[in-house]
Amino acid sequence: DPINNRKQHLTDSHRIEVIKNHRQWEKTTLDEKHNPFYKTISTTVKPRVKQQSDKLLIGLKPITLREMNSRKDHVYTGCVLSVTIIEETLSWIPSIHLVVEDENFDCERMLIYGISKEEGEYLISKLYTVGKKIHIINPYLRIGANDMKPSIRVDDISSIVMQSKSEWILNMCRYCCEADASKFCGKCKQANYCSKECQTMDWKLYNHKLICKS
Ligand SMILES: [Zn+2]
Ligand SMILES: [Zn+2]
Repeated sequence: DPINNRKQHLTDSHRIEVIKNHRQWEKTTLDEKHNPFYKTISTTVKPRVKQQSDKLLIGLKPITLREMNSRKDHVYTGCVLSVTIIEETLSWIPSIHLVVEDENFDCERMLIYGISKEEGEYLISKLYTVGKKIHIINPYLRIGANDMKPSIRVDDISSIVMQSKSEWILNMCRYCCEADASKFCGKCKQANYCSKECQTMDWKLYNHKLICKS
């Protein structure tokens, strides 16, 4: 039963750690943004973000997170990793931090580097947001130099192919990742939930308060 299977994964210790660490990163970054010395680069011009064709995927071997060695720096050449974005970001400096989930409901941190100042704001607010599905070509599992933790690292966004709009999870619940969650966090009005239970679990388990700003 896929629904029960997903529910079991929501309390997985690695998932909790990855999501909480991401939100802690977001909080730290936001606090810096409110610091007047933080140099924000705003742009008024909509950038020309090159959209990749899914023809690029032909001949690539599908791979999942559990098939990648989470203790070894390695580029999986000839493979494609297909994931849903389940945590988004408000900052693209120095890199875009996301959390992604694959078809087995396994999740991992994802870092995107090499963002130009023209496209940064557009990428984080319009493209790489919660519920979007992407393919990552030749995924690179990178062990963090400081924290020694794994992440999926992208150095060139041309290796990301957006899945078609019909695949996206619209109004995704921030706890259970189901679509069409119609309730909101009353404080930040940014987080969707399908029920009071999901909201409570997101607060308790994944520390929603770190990213809850009114
Ligand atoms: Zn839910
Ligand atoms: Zn909130």
